[in-house]
Amino acid sequence: QKDVSKITSGQVIIDLKSIVKELVENSIDANSTKIEINFQNYGIDSISVTDNGKGIKKEDFEFVCLRSHTSKISEFEDLDKLSTLGFRGEALNSICSVSSKVKIVTCTDYPKNHELDYDKAGKLSKSVSKIGGGFSKQTGTSVSIEKIFFDLPVRLKNFVKNSKREFHKAINFLTQYLLIYPEIKFSVFNVVNSKKSLALSSRGGSKSTILDNMITVFGANGAKGLVELKLLISEDIQIEGYISSYSFGLGRSVTDRQFMFINKRPVMLKKLSKIVNDVYKSFNHMQYPIFILNIAIDPSALDVNLTPDKGMIMIHSEQDLFEKIRLDLIGFFESQDN
Ligand code: ADP
Ligand code: MG
Repeated sequence: QKDVSKITSGQVIIDLKSIVKELVENSIDANSTKIEINFQNYGIDSISVTDNGKGIKKEDFEFVCLRSHTSKISEFEDLDKLSTLGFRGEALNSICSVSSKVKIVTCTDYPKNHELDYDKAGKLSKSVSKIGGGFSKQTGTSVSIEKIFFDLPVRLKNFVKNSKREFHKAINFLTQYLLIYPEIKFSVFNVVNSKKSLALSSRGGSKSTILDNMITVFGANGAKGLVELKLLISEDIQIEGYISSYSFGLGRSVTDRQFMFINKRPVMLKKLSKIVNDVYKSFNHMQYPIFILNIAIDPSALDVNLTPDKGMIMIHSEQDLFEKIRLDLIGFFESQDN
């Protein structure tokens, strides 16, 4: 693992949503095809994320929860070619610092697996090797976080008071990953008073599509009238996804069904959202389309290291790019019209 303290960013973990985001991004980065998330009591008691990804190597055990240690970039120049969601090596360390216990069970070589405990500083405090366990002849990792914010009384009080709202924020955030990674099978459960309920799920598999998942999440009616959108903006920029076709607009502003991603990373691009809404409006009496759009772009044209959650991204020559997208979108709707 590499020490990358030069690119640290400040506080990553501010709420339940950011914990879940970091854990799920780690599972995605490990090439998982199955991710299960379990909340106990809306996350107040614990949160665990279990995947069938590549697992953690033995030589990394003592580093994974240390600040600024990551296995994902080997040189700073790699930032230009970044293809993983994580790269700063901060998340697990911050999670350790705000919870009472972080436990990792990981397997790279079935049936051998390891149970690892980390303390508040991210130091490995216990390591037990085992045979068998829950990975059913696969590799994988399970990360459990207990009692988040237990020694931060103000944050804890707020979290407990608003736990349902915080839980739904986390679910909504997770939904974005579920939609844009249709090949991954997601299952999200919440256990309250020993009653387990399914909060969100997708089928996964290589045949599943974003559209399937839109229908799974929003219902056939909620995803009605979506058409495929593919724009080749330039040699190394493409936009792919779905957008409401003519007359299927929502007629009111609902941002909960407008999704944008850059290289499958959920992002807020207010200017671009406005462009899409404006172009759509100029062709339709119904305003506001549903859309889910991924901008595939060469990582060297991006700076994702602006905010702790990487939700804001700087794109080189953004103005030109957005103008080109606007014209291509107009072209798309013109061809739809005929
Ligand atoms: P980053 O994702 O920026 O590298 P994290 O603190 O999120 O930093 O994770 C630290 C390291 O722990 C990762 O670089 C990776 O090597 C390892 N890791 C964390 N979660 C998983 C997982 N689910 N599967 C495999 N490796 C993991
Ligand atoms: Mg990470």
